[in-house]
Amino acid sequence: MNQYAAGAMPSNKVICDLRSDTVTKPDAEMRAVMAAAEVGDDVYGEDPSIIRLEATLAERLGKEAGLFCASETQSNLIAMLSQCGRGEEVITGRGYHVHKYEAGGASALGGIVFDALPVTADGSLKVEDVLQAIKDDDPHFPMSRLLSLENTHNGQAIAGEVMSILVSAAQAHGLSTHLDGARLFNATTVLGVEAKQLADPFDTISVCLSKGLGAPVGSVLLGSKDVVARARRWRKMLGGGMRQAGVLAAAGLYALENNVERLHEDHQRAEALADILLKSGIGTVKQASNMVFWQCPSRHIGVVQAQLAQRGIVLSGADHGVMRLVMHKDVSDAAFTTLSHVLQDVL
Ligand SMILES: *Cc1c(COP(=O)(O)O)cnc(C)c1O
Repeated sequence: MNQYAAGAMPSNKVICDLRSDTVTKPDAEMRAVMAAAEVGDDVYGEDPSIIRLEATLAERLGKEAGLFCASETQSNLIAMLSQCGRGEEVITGRGYHVHKYEAGGASALGGIVFDALPVTADGSLKVEDVLQAIKDDDPHFPMSRLLSLENTHNGQAIAGEVMSILVSAAQAHGLSTHLDGARLFNATTVLGVEAKQLADPFDTISVCLSKGLGAPVGSVLLGSKDVVARARRWRKMLGGGMRQAGVLAAAGLYALENNVERLHEDHQRAEALADILLKSGIGTVKQASNMVFWQCPSRHIGVVQAQLAQRGIVLSGADHGVMRLVMHKDVSDAAFTTLSHVLQDVL
């Protein structure tokens, strides 16, 4: 089992789904904006909505150009393929998404090798480990080409200063750097900084629109004009050149305008939920941005899952005795109240 494993779906009506923030559905306003979107053929570079989305995020993150991709997995894959050749190496964290949860795409499709380092308690890497992992130019070794970091990691926001130190160490040895910012705006919300600040040290950064931001599809890869031009060719090669996808970009633009500012509400709810679990004295609880991780004996998890399922609340399966509960915009006030009450009762 892993943290993405589907839990048991309740047979009654689902009132909220806490497996992930990917479960959000486009609301009526977002659908209206999608229906009205101006579109064109994006492979010809003629979709005004996609052009606007790419330019908006490039501006917001302080990069020259952007590329609309089908998913964050595709953005990350394209970032690696654009900056790393066959037999060359990406240095990253052992539990980071690019290494653990992307089906080995960079290795399978790009012949790229990973050196995955232990992740520290704060979700980052140790600079000594990164320096040690960067290989000499020696025929025995793959060429170390790219350092790939993640923010947030398991909900944990990592300070810009911590990332900058790691990036500087990599750059001093000629490596490029990528940030998997699937939940970048959760990080900026926790840290109270502009997205630009977190994106600044990196050559490329990917941002997901279909997690807490509530768009149905999409991710954008940002970087210099040069790297984005290479990325565009890779996207075509991977079959990711989409045509009138402006209907999707319009949802992304709507999400950026309307759903970033509300992320703190998800964080507050995660804190409240962590508080209830902590007060029960059962197991250990960790909360970070919109996520709560509850580690306790499986019999407790089983009871909680069953009781919540009866009320239409879906939870994911436990990963090594740890259950992940994720807050997002489609958890209604009523559902959250029910969740809190049932948890208090059961525990
Ligand atoms: C979810 C996630 C991805 C992959 O996103 P998809 O859009 O599901 O492909 C990549 N990186 C991180 C850190 C994620 O949480």
